Amino acid sequence: MASKASMEKIVSLAKRRGFVFQSSEIYGGLNGCWDYGPVGVELKNNVKREWWRSSVTERDDMAGVDCTILMHPRVWEASGHVSGFTDPMVDCKTCKGRFRADHLADTPCPQKPSKMVGQHDACELTEARKFNLMFKTFIGPMEDTAAQVYMRPETAQGIFVNFKNVLETSRQKIPFGIAQVGKSFRNEITPKQFTFRVREFEQMEIEFFCKPGSDEEWYNYWKDLRFNWYVNLGIKKENLRLRPHGADELAHYARGCSDVEYLFPFGWSELEGIANRADFDLKQHQQFSGKSLEYTDPQSRERYVPYVIEPSAGADRGTLAFLIDAYDEDTAPDEKGAEETRIVLRFHPRLAPVKAAIFPLTKKDGMPELGEKLYKQLKKRWNVDYDLSGSIGKRYRRQDEIGTPFGITVDADSVKDGTVTVRDRDTMKQERVAAEQIPAYLEQKIEG
Ligand code: ATP
Repeated sequence: MASKASMEKIVSLAKRRGFVFQSSEIYGGLNGCWDYGPVGVELKNNVKREWWRSSVTERDDMAGVDCTILMHPRVWEASGHVSGFTDPMVDCKTCKGRFRADHLADTPCPQKPSKMVGQHDACELTEARKFNLMFKTFIGPMEDTAAQVYMRPETAQGIFVNFKNVLETSRQKIPFGIAQVGKSFRNEITPKQFTFRVREFEQMEIEFFCKPGSDEEWYNYWKDLRFNWYVNLGIKKENLRLRPHGADELAHYARGCSDVEYLFPFGWSELEGIANRADFDLKQHQQFSGKSLEYTDPQSRERYVPYVIEPSAGADRGTLAFLIDAYDEDTAPDEKGAEETRIVLRFHPRLAPVKAAIFPLTKKDGMPELGEKLYKQLKKRWNVDYDLSGSIGKRYRRQDEIGTPFGITVDADSVKDGTVTVRDRDTMKQERVAAEQIPAYLEQKIEG
């Protein structure tokens, strides 16, 4: 079943509760650019942290890098981006709009939004032409072509050009992978669907190097692993699918490619691509740089250019999918005990921006002191909130809307016997736990 979320509800909640704001909003915004607010940055950091943990630190066969956004311009000639990283674009002579020629069927006409671009009588479209998506800028004070560089449109190339450096410094042996998380830039012709298609975004990419012949096995391994990563962090299985690319979608060098797709409110769309790229990238860099990128097997002394499997995910698209999938509406008692609609984000506790909120029942009788002590203790380990204002019901509701899994109430009994009430976000059930047990309790529930 698709989530109860519509894009309107998600965009509105994201703004209201501080997940995502329009970039440069007070100046009218900048198309295709979004900022993460105080709660959103925690969510996105948690997504990236979980990815890094499962892809790098928990494994023996992976190493991380953090490369620059600006790279030598020859990198992008070798990778094929200068000649081939283009989208087909058409202009409309009537409305002066620019559109992706291959997305006309689902792009509303700005003059008559009930029709799609090209279907309104007044539309006058040009022939499609190629538009390169890389942003250009200049290194140094001279703004001429000799000083021109690109803002990287993917993080993968930083990994390929460092293949030898990592091999020599990390004591890794084939098969092994290199991972990177970082910003990428694409001058998308029509950014759309909130943070789904934007001009500045973050990628989480792996290049997993293996011996030719073992690539099919590793390709299948990574497809399963990456699909299950989303499921294990709470995305409902029925909202996810692995879609193999058809022969017409595959790059000429690719031996296979599958997308992990999520059922967004606007339809099935790509979260991540997993590709078997053979030795294309390393061979290209070998040719353009003149440096050998061969690997010598330490035992057999066999020399070869490794094949590579590339799981390439978007941190922003992933974060959006986790947000949409967590969105739910149910009912909860209001102040007078009557049922009212409650918006709740059912995040996996590891992804939840705030792990727990501490609520002293009243502002007197030692409750705030006890609450603050617990808050300060927990804050050393997790992002937690402390809230003294409004009724308990209102305080719960605020935390439900940002997906805080545990609400901890300090009441008169707490002062007497040292126990507190823990309320579960999803079941709304409450249990009494000794305050000194709370860190262990949360540890088990979050990391468990
Ligand atoms: P699409 O077909 O949707 O443009 P793509 O196939 O070009 O995506 P890749 O080049 O495979 O995307 O990039 C890997 C991942 O980076 C994507 O699966 C996506 O999560 C993310 N990504 C790519 N372009 C964007 C973008 N403009 N905005 C947000 N995320 C993006």
